[in-house]
Amino acid sequence: MKKSILGLAGLGLTSLLMLTGCGKSDDVLVVGTNASFPPFEYVGGPSGDEVKGFDIDLARQIAKDAGKTLKIENMNFDSLIVALNSGKIDFVASGMTITEERQASVDFSAPYYEATQVVLMNKDNDSIKSIDDLNGKRIAVQLGSTGDIMAKNYSDNVTAFNTGFEAVMELRNAKVDLVLFDSEPAISFLNQNPQLKMVELDFEPEFYGLAVSKNQTELLSQINTTLSNMKSNGAYDALVSKHMK
Ligand code: GLN
Repeated sequence: MKKSILGLAGLGLTSLLMLTGCGKSDDVLVVGTNASFPPFEYVGGPSGDEVKGFDIDLARQIAKDAGKTLKIENMNFDSLIVALNSGKIDFVASGMTITEERQASVDFSAPYYEATQVVLMNKDNDSIKSIDDLNGKRIAVQLGSTGDIMAKNYSDNVTAFNTGFEAVMELRNAKVDLVLFDSEPAISFLNQNPQLKMVELDFEPEFYGLAVSKNQTELLSQINTTLSNMKSNGAYDALVSKHMK
């Protein structure tokens, strides 16, 4: 008898958690991003606090096609997968590279952008000509990024920051020799920091994907449908022209 009451109570709690656990309404789609990765996501606009960018436009189209309102959660890059898997956000749009390690905990959409790691350095520094030259250098990266993971293959002197912006500041202050970062945001930082230069090395290409929790097959197929429609109807190319210089 006792056991069945407990069983019922357990069931009640489970349904309550299912109803309230995610705290989200059905007509809202929540995208998680780290808005310090221009031109994919950054804070700007007339008010100065609007989250904008290529990924945000993609996310808006995904929500529109799903008949939902988009809500944006801006957080640290290394919190995104945790937020996704705890149900705080529905999907990640944050220039996130599809990697085998991440695929163990989330599902990715079809790849939507090809990128690569590049080196940012002060213009007066000529010490990096090839990947081997990275050995032992003082490297700044964004915490939890593919640049962070790769930098550790070359050096024990890697400092990880919550944003690429902070990594670039460290470089400007000559506290590190270089920043290892994704190509498009690197170009964007370069445009704002004329004392820096970009060095392209022979790194493998990386492919960005939008991430959903495992088993969110319906949302994943909605996302892939929107991506493939945008590629075929020209909307994807229009976004590239709008955001990439
Ligand atoms: N593409 C890199 C990664 O997935 C960096 C992404 C980012 O910093 N927003 O790790």
